Amino acid sequence: MAMTRSKAVRIDQHGGLEELKLVDVEVGEPGPGEIRIRHKAVGLNFIDIYQRAGVYKLPMPLQLGMEASGVIEAVGEGVTHLKAGDRAAYASQPPGSYCEVRVMPAKCVCKLPDDISFDTGAAMMLKGLTVQYLLRRTQPQGGLQAGDHVLFHAAAGGVGLIACQWAKALGLQLIGTAGSDEKCALAREHGAAFTINYSKEDFVARVKEITGGRGVKVVYDSVGRDTFLKSLDCLRPFGLLANFGNASGKVEPLDIGLLAAKGSLYVSRPTLFTHLATRESTQAMADDLFAMVSSGKIDIRIDQRFALADVAEAHRSLEARKTTGCTILTL
Ligand code: NDP
Repeated sequence: MAMTRSKAVRIDQHGGLEELKLVDVEVGEPGPGEIRIRHKAVGLNFIDIYQRAGVYKLPMPLQLGMEASGVIEAVGEGVTHLKAGDRAAYASQPPGSYCEVRVMPAKCVCKLPDDISFDTGAAMMLKGLTVQYLLRRTQPQGGLQAGDHVLFHAAAGGVGLIACQWAKALGLQLIGTAGSDEKCALAREHGAAFTINYSKEDFVARVKEITGGRGVKVVYDSVGRDTFLKSLDCLRPFGLLANFGNASGKVEPLDIGLLAAKGSLYVSRPTLFTHLATRESTQAMADDLFAMVSSGKIDIRIDQRFALADVAEAHRSLEARKTTGCTILTL
């Protein structure tokens, strides 16, 4: 079998930045249902940090990375939606995108429209598809209507700035939280109707003030431990808390009696990969995202670029809350 050599970033055990090793790997031919893709750019995500540090435990050794764009080099038996030479992008489970070339399941890979650049494709798939399922498929009782208030934490981050723009396009009044006044300004520039600097303001009190005491219909919370209980206090009766991440640490076990006491609330802990379970749902969600980006309603803002070999610096910045918008690794 012909083998191709590729640089890749691997960890041999969970831990700090020192565990990120640039290594040479051999990549073979795609098997049934697989493709081989040569990457043009790789997306960085906070989930990569959970997987490196061991917040999410995975078998070792592990090639990190969940998102990338590139050109299809070969397709395995049974793959009909892609062919050699196609431009493509993906958000993938299992990880492995921190590399030049890889073989992977074809199911999660989509053709990238010609008007979307490789850098944008690499930056937007995991984050944009997450916003798609959060705003479109993670809804409170009775759904969301134009004019409704929602609260979105970490609104100036990669997922956050996409959410601000998508929410505006849907006519939602998005209240965004962020850790500095500069980040708040950025979230407003991207469509947040209101912002709260939660490093110095009490976000529960501000949400009550903004909503005339009623609270919001949905809180989208990826910060986790530091915000979870206060997020419940921002909801109106029958409201929904979607906890989709743990940037500040895992949420403590919940006494579900609290949901009754605070007004018959709902809590969901969704993950993108349940939504991407089939080729059909992946393509439908990607088409929705591509249409939003191609129409100019969503600008995928890439504020940081690092070489693949400098991936430790990229992790350091993301972990230290120094980034805004999306970050990509260049090849
Ligand atoms: P971001 O660019 O949003 O970076 C994370 C942000 O979280 C930081 O910039 C920071 O913003 C905020 N934050 C708050 N507290 C902390 C803390 N203690 N340490 C570090 N950051 C903190 O990352 P992504 O766009 O890649 O992802 C956003 C979130 O969405 C992540 O939690 C990720 O795990 C989650 N996610 C979940 C998915 C799912 O399906 N469940 C899929 C994709 C992403 P600030 O300084 O403004 O507070």
